[in-house]
Amino acid sequence: MYQLGTKAFELLKEIAIHGADPIGGETRFLYTDDWLQAQNFIKTILTKSGFDANFDEIGNLFGRIGGTKYVNETILTGSHIDTVRNGGMYDGQYGIVASFLAINYLKEKYGKPLRNLEVVSFAEEEGSRFSYTFWGSKNLCKIAEKSDVMNLSDENGIRFIDAMINHGFNFRDETVPFRKDIVGFLEIHIEQGKVLETERTEIGVVNAIAGQRRFNIEVTGEANHAGTTPMHLRKDAVYSMSQMINYIIDTALKYGDPLVATVGKIVVKPNISNVVPGQVMFTLDTRHTDKTILSQFNDEIFKKLEIIAKSNKTSVKIDMWLDASPIPMNPNMVNVLKDACIANNYSFKLMHSGAGHDSMIIAPFVPTAMLLVPSKKGISHSPDEFTEIEFLEKGILTLAEALYKLSYFE
Ligand SMILES: [Zn+2]
Repeated sequence: MYQLGTKAFELLKEIAIHGADPIGGETRFLYTDDWLQAQNFIKTILTKSGFDANFDEIGNLFGRIGGTKYVNETILTGSHIDTVRNGGMYDGQYGIVASFLAINYLKEKYGKPLRNLEVVSFAEEEGSRFSYTFWGSKNLCKIAEKSDVMNLSDENGIRFIDAMINHGFNFRDETVPFRKDIVGFLEIHIEQGKVLETERTEIGVVNAIAGQRRFNIEVTGEANHAGTTPMHLRKDAVYSMSQMINYIIDTALKYGDPLVATVGKIVVKPNISNVVPGQVMFTLDTRHTDKTILSQFNDEIFKKLEIIAKSNKTSVKIDMWLDASPIPMNPNMVNVLKDACIANNYSFKLMHSGAGHDSMIIAPFVPTAMLLVPSKKGISHSPDEFTEIEFLEKGILTLAEALYKLSYFE
C-alpha cells in the first residue's frame, strides 16, 4: 500500500537529517553546511536514478531525463529546499521529492519521454536567513540582481556574498537570458491551511496565488500618568488602536472568503502598566486573489482609521511595505491538473493559495500551475507539519499523470 508515499516519507526523513534543529524541526538556511548537504543528498539520489543532475551558478539543483524527440522543450517541476527557523520536513521539500518520484515512476513505467522532464530543487524561497525571498526561482527567471543581495548580512553579520562563495556558488552571468526550453512548470506543495482537510478533499488544484499587501500602522497619542490623567483628557493610543483592529476584522468578515486580514504584531510604547500608552504600532497583512477588491478593502479601512484616530484625539500613520499582485495560474495547465485528478479518481478542489510560492515568480514567464496536498490541522512552518502517506502518494500520482500528459504525447 502507498509505495510511492512511503518512499517519499523515507526520503523526506533522510533530507531532514540535514538541518535538524536541536530545538525541534528543521532549520535549513541558504548557504549553510546543512543546506549544501541536503542539496548534495538530492543530487546523489537523482544521479543514482539516471537523472543528469547539475547545479546552476547560484546553487539551484536540476535533474533531467532527456526527451527522445522534442529536445528543446522541457517540463520543469519542483520546489524549494530551504526552511524557516524550526520549520517542518514537508514545506518545499515534499515538492522536490514528489517531482523526483513522479518522473522516476514515469521513466520506469513508460521509458523516456518525448519532451525533457526536469526536477528542480530551488536554493531558497523563504527569506529566512537573509531578508530576500525567492532567490532560487528569481535566478531561474533572471530577475534576481546582484545589487538585491550585495549589502545583505544575516543575523550573525555574515554577508550574503561570503556565505554563497564559501559554499562554492556565485552570482549568475547576468548576460545569459532566460532558458527558452522551459515550456511548462508544475509545483506540488503542502497546503499550509486546513481547507482540504476540513472538506475531506484529496487534492487542491491552485488557480491563483493571492496578492498581498502588508502595512505597519502607527497610532500616536500622548503618554501620561495612569493615576492622575482623567479618562476624558487622555489621548490613549491603545484604545484608538483597539477600535481600529475591531473595524478591520469586522470589515474583513463582511467581505468574506477569499479576503483575509491579520493583525499579527503589536508594539506598545512605553509598554508600562501604569502609563497611558502614547504610541502603538501594529502590523496588517491583507490578501485576496483580486487586486481590485484588495485595493477597495484597503481604501475602505484606511479612510475609517483616520476617522477613528481623530475621534480619539490621536493620529495614524500607515506605511505599506509589501505590495504583491495576485498571480493567476495558466488555465491550460490548471486543466491538465484537473484532468489528472479525474483520471486518478481523486476528489479535488479548485482553490487559490493564500501563501506565496515559487510558482508565482515563474508564472509570468512560463505556463505554470500548482497542486496542494492536505496538511494535518493546516499546520506549516512548524516541526508539527505533517501530511499522511496516503496524500503524499496521491499527490505524486496526480503530478505523474499531469507530467505524463505533458511530456509523453505529441
Ligand atoms: Zn514552501
